[in-house]
Formats: sequence, structure tokens, C-alpha cells
Amino acid sequence: VAHAGWRGTVAQIGRKTVETMQQAFSSRPEDIIAAIGPSIGQCCYEVDDFVRGKAAGYEQFFAPRAEKPGKYLLDLWGYNRQVLLDAGLKAENILTAGVCTEHNHEMFCSYRAEQGKTGRMGVCLYRMSAEKNA
Ligand SMILES: [Zn+2]
Repeated sequence: VAHAGWRGTVAQIGRKTVETMQQAFSSRPEDIIAAIGPSIGQCCYEVDDFVRGKAAGYEQFFAPRAEKPGKYLLDLWGYNRQVLLDAGLKAENILTAGVCTEHNHEMFCSYRAEQGKTGRMGVCLYRMSAEKNA
């Protein structure tokens, strides 16, 4: 499990996680299945030039806000998906929930929607075996 807010995303935590799995478990990127869980969506995630400046090669995931010069809407889901593709994962092995936590803050904790006074989200990773009755 890796957390990818904007700092983790521009630091390519997805690629680093794949590399760590290769070193620790001899994982092959083409065998890895990734799930991008609920998080703030591009509909709500405004960032500035500072963040975009850290994203060399991935600027396409920043939609300029015409009404706010120097501000962008960041597509964390697309950015992290591309990082995982660049790390060798197969497109069909990357699942994206596509659920914005700010738009759905009654269901999920959202730091931005709740102005910092919010709960915390937990993540559970469950290993599924391909072997039946093993
Ligand atoms: Zn949203």
C-alpha cells in the first residue's frame, strides 16, 4: 500500500513501490495489479505553479484554470496511472475507483472539504489467490 498525495505522486511513489516489490519479492511489473482508491478528484483538486513545476514529463495531468492564472486542476488518478504504466504495469491491471472524496465527503474523510477537521481513511489490502482450494 502506498499513499500518493501530490508530493508522493510527483516523487513517483508508484514507480518506487514497483521497484521495491521487484527487489523484495522478485515481482514482475507485468504481473502486478494496482488499485487507485478513492481520493480527491481532478474536479476538486486545485494546485499551483509550484506543484506543476515538480511534475516534469507529466504536465498533461494539470488542467489550467482559465479564471485563475497559475492554478491547475490536478488529475492524481491519471498521473499515478501513467507512472504505473511507465513502471511496466499492464493497462488492464490498473484499476481506478474514480470516486472523489471531496465530492463524497459524507462517505469519505476529506481534509479539503472539511477544512482540516476530519477523520482519517483506512486501507485494507487483501491478497487473492489464483489457486482454488489451495
Ligand atoms: Zn470532486
